[in-house]
Amino acid sequence: MAERIQSIRGMHDILPEQGAAWSWLEARIRGVVEQYGYRRIRLPIVEKTELFARSIGAVTDIVEKEMYTFQDRNGESLTLRPEGTAGCVRAGIEHGLLHNQLVRLWYAGPMFRHERPQKGRYRQFHQAGVETFGMEGPDIDAELILMTARLWRELGLENVRLEVNSLGSAEARAAHRVALQAFLRSRIDELDEDSRRRLESNPLRVLDSKHPATREVLRDAPQLLEALDDASREHFDALCATLSEAGIEYVVNPSLVRGLDYYSRTVFEWITDELGAQGTICAGGRYDGLVDQLGGRSAPGCGFAMGLERLLDLLAIQGLLPEMPGPQVYVLSQGEAERRAALLLGEALRQARPDLDVLVHCGEGGLKAQMKRADRSGAQMALIIGEQERVEGSVTVRKLRGDSEQVKVAQTAVLAELQRLWPNA
Ligand code: ATP
Ligand code: MG
Repeated sequence: MAERIQSIRGMHDILPEQGAAWSWLEARIRGVVEQYGYRRIRLPIVEKTELFARSIGAVTDIVEKEMYTFQDRNGESLTLRPEGTAGCVRAGIEHGLLHNQLVRLWYAGPMFRHERPQKGRYRQFHQAGVETFGMEGPDIDAELILMTARLWRELGLENVRLEVNSLGSAEARAAHRVALQAFLRSRIDELDEDSRRRLESNPLRVLDSKHPATREVLRDAPQLLEALDDASREHFDALCATLSEAGIEYVVNPSLVRGLDYYSRTVFEWITDELGAQGTICAGGRYDGLVDQLGGRSAPGCGFAMGLERLLDLLAIQGLLPEMPGPQVYVLSQGEAERRAALLLGEALRQARPDLDVLVHCGEGGLKAQMKRADRSGAQMALIIGEQERVEGSVTVRKLRGDSEQVKVAQTAVLAELQRLWPNA
């Protein structure tokens, strides 16, 4: 046998038995975002490297060490998208969607980051997210949070907490940067290596460090939230007031900064303690400078992305994943000509009842073995065609659950018989 080729570390197959949960979750997300008037955008998975370098920021985990970057055949540097916002803004500018418009978009799909694989952290993972443009007020920030809260409610999720913060204006951040840098320099011996380096190039990033010793130091750091400009303060207060009025519980976390440079003003995360270290299931915020930064005519923006693997893990832990659907009707047969008759019976059933899931056994095997498979498939009803049935133009209809009642009827009466024996059909 030839040597087997394995999948890439941190990139996982989603097998059919998991696929049903994925489709279900994606449909629920779609249902909620479309209820709020968001329209889907489908974007390429590959973009020019510069797009991410310029938007996410050079001194960030993603751009420094996580991007899958390669040279195209013409020598151009390309990158597998590590997130969805940059591509969305690029497309919006390119197609003139953003200028003087109020835009609500959503997307879902795979993202790629060269991280150390562990539970809840993969190299290919999936996000669903939304991006809005042209809306400056705190009401759209609140809408994003209310929309995610509604999704959690619809899914039945519990124990997710909301953390919010404001990063203020660029000017406020610049002023805070000086104070933060001075503070970090005074405690430099206690910082991890990445943070020491970043304290010079991008000190705000240090606030995002996951290093325990650095986190300890940060407890005493000067806080941006206390140095907000008036307009950002007003924006943040209005957001908080709206959340309270809507009955959404939240915690203000002054050290929440998010791992990408493009954020301004509002940032938020939904976090659970049930997934260990990888507890953030959804994160987002405002990026008022990004459109301008990517060459478009300035427009405010605000969005979020959720990690679907983490969401599915949490749903599984809380016992909220639905039963996997199997076929409802399983058609069995014995003999060559009977096999063909079974196939055609399956077709006739699907034609008459598009809502019924009908599986026709096409493999070999005696009736007994087929019956076992029918039972394991989870189907409610079995339809059996043996020689006698074929000759008579009849079908044996058998209940697979409960009392196993079995009746032979004319093929033309199959639907009525199914209904009688299995009233849910
Ligand atoms: P983290 O702090 O966990 O590294 P992040 O700040 O890098 O997250 P974002 O870029 O905000 O994450 O992505 C939004 C969401 O996507 C995260 O909250 C998480 O649920 C999910 N996510 C991010 N990176 C990964 C990954 N490597 N594997 C699985 N899910 C991920
Ligand atoms: Mg990360």
